[in-house]
Amino acid sequence: MLEQEIKKVIRDVPDFPKPGIVFKDITPILQNSDMCWKITEQLANMARTHQINAVLGIESRGFLFGFLLAHFMQVPFIPIRKAGKLPYKTIRESYDLEYGSAAIEMHSDALFKGAKVMIHDDLLATGGTAAAAANLVKKAGAEVACFSFLVALHFLNGKEKLLLECPHIHTLVNYTE
Ligand code: AMP
Repeated sequence: MLEQEIKKVIRDVPDFPKPGIVFKDITPILQNSDMCWKITEQLANMARTHQINAVLGIESRGFLFGFLLAHFMQVPFIPIRKAGKLPYKTIRESYDLEYGSAAIEMHSDALFKGAKVMIHDDLLATGGTAAAAANLVKKAGAEVACFSFLVALHFLNGKEKLLLECPHIHTLVNYTE
């Protein structure tokens, strides 16, 4: 089963980027083109009923499979970046972190009104980042059709936060502890 194969490849890095966090390093997956292809196929397959118009990928690891997914599904890819990185006019959304806050941006002309969007990131933890991306989609007059994550840390309850935005949350590799 693909999920088990991927779990063998993901590398746990304890205490990164700070003590107490076990970082799920997905970079070893990128060395296996066959696995990358299967991941793209499965994540695209999970979302096939939503008839999406665009994939939004969240900086920076959300760009990896986000762009492949958009290419596979033959829809535009839209990068969501940390504040101050995108060159053109942007719309911005601030959100709370464990300590302090962060802001993400999208180009103001990236989405047409009424577009149905898939929000993709490599990993779902508390859901704060993806929920902020959902707010950007709404600010642009578009609609979140589904969320898509390669990895989900279910014990951090991110899904509960995202269910307030959209009922369709697709996750391929699931950790319950
Ligand atoms: P959150 O907003 O809490 O859902 O955090 C999600 C974002 O933080 C994603 O962009 C992930 O890449 C990153 N992230 C959070 N926790 C981890 C972790 N344990 N391992 C790898 N990335 C993480």
